[in-house]
Amino acid sequence: MRIAVIGSGYVGLVSGTCFADFGHNVFCVDQDAEKIALLKRGEMPIYEPGLAELVATNTRAGRLTFTTDLSDAVSRAEVVFIAVGTPSRRGDGHADLCHVFAATRQIGGAIGTDHKVIVTKSTVPVGTGDEVERLLRDIRPNGRFSVVSNPEFLREGAAIGDFKRPDRIIIGIEDEAARDVMTEVYRPLFLNQAPVLFMRRRAAELTKYAANAFLATKITFINEIADLCESIGADVQEIARGIGLDNRIGAKFLHAGPGFGGSCFPKDTLALMKTAQDHDRPLRVVETVVAVNDQRKRSMARKVIAACGGSVRGRRIAMLGLTFKPNTDDIREAPSLAVIQALLDGGARISAYDPKGMDHCRDIFPEIEFAPTIEACATEACALVIATEWDAFRALDFAHLRRIMASPVVIDLRNIYRPDDVRRAGFIYEGVGRGRSPHILTEASTAA
Ligand code: NAD
Repeated sequence: MRIAVIGSGYVGLVSGTCFADFGHNVFCVDQDAEKIALLKRGEMPIYEPGLAELVATNTRAGRLTFTTDLSDAVSRAEVVFIAVGTPSRRGDGHADLCHVFAATRQIGGAIGTDHKVIVTKSTVPVGTGDEVERLLRDIRPNGRFSVVSNPEFLREGAAIGDFKRPDRIIIGIEDEAARDVMTEVYRPLFLNQAPVLFMRRRAAELTKYAANAFLATKITFINEIADLCESIGADVQEIARGIGLDNRIGAKFLHAGPGFGGSCFPKDTLALMKTAQDHDRPLRVVETVVAVNDQRKRSMARKVIAACGGSVRGRRIAMLGLTFKPNTDDIREAPSLAVIQALLDGGARISAYDPKGMDHCRDIFPEIEFAPTIEACATEACALVIATEWDAFRALDFAHLRRIMASPVVIDLRNIYRPDDVRRAGFIYEGVGRGRSPHILTEASTAA
């Protein structure tokens, strides 16, 4: 099939490349001429493991091309995916659909007489598919097209695996012609027996938001349990395992930490909350999740300040990790950003190191030092904060760190270390929810 993907960001570029790898002919479109120029040279505008190789293979095979010419790509394609950004609208938190509608108008201008399937892959509020259809109908009253919702569930850092081996594919349709075309688009995954769920368009749109809100709720739940653990003297890791082994709960998304961030959960929970309020059906659980998570990021800075004895004024703090999760260069809504800002407000001097995220942070924090290595970042620091669980941070040489740091303090916001291991190396250690039981186990109590 011939497929056009409008928007070549994290989702568009990965989806387009994987569709090409399925054997389709794909035109990846972006209005950002610099991005397209990079891609044409074989350079990646984003960091995503395995992507460069897959792009190279499919470009060489002639199945994947990059262009800024939306009209040309759309006129040649049988299926057009809209994968542009849907950030929070400034001021009210609704999803900002300006890019989706701008792309729709451009698509409308390029639709000819052949039947086309226009698919929203971007995360869009319920009813957006109806609006896209209306816009297209205004532009092309006699056009032959179907509008489909096919939300994407890939995770940055594991995007290619997620796209090729998805837990499920959600396809919202309003006509049977669209079903046949979408079945063809995803044929290789049908053959792999991936669950493909056809449903009505509005249901598909809401499924994406409901999934993200549920996952955000799970994270927020364990974060609040973590706070309670600190007060009562228990380790949240033990509780997470204790509840996660229950199949009805599941072990995933039970890692206590600095609050959820990234390009999806914060904006999607907010947008769902706004949709529900507009329909006079407030989602009180989601509203609480949003409020609790907002407060959490800054409270992590207070944790750092407390571990430093109550003040960070004039002190050098080393931040390991800037991206919102490992294996991506994406820093959108990363908890590290709020923590850094709060520490700067408290008078700290920040040195930071991240394997992939530093370039994006330079403009946001011109006043901080971006260190070339973990060691350079930690040298002379009064405290080391682990803000992202990159593998490179999982086996730190604490004996060496102790020699080069000004004081031995570690604040592990991702709980990647066992508190006792770090304490044995001579550090003051603070994790998230790693309360210590006030009871000393005696021979008598263990025997009992
Ligand atoms: P992104 O910002 O990385 O990419 C969007 C791209 O669209 C940009 O390159 C931009 O230049 C381009 N664009 C915007 N308007 C255009 C137009 N009219 N014509 C051509 N190009 C245009 O965004 P993203 O992270 O890929 O997210 C895209 C959508 O997918 C969002 O709705 C997001 O919520 C959803 N989503 C994202 C993820 C993720 O992990 N990033 C996962 C699932 C779903």
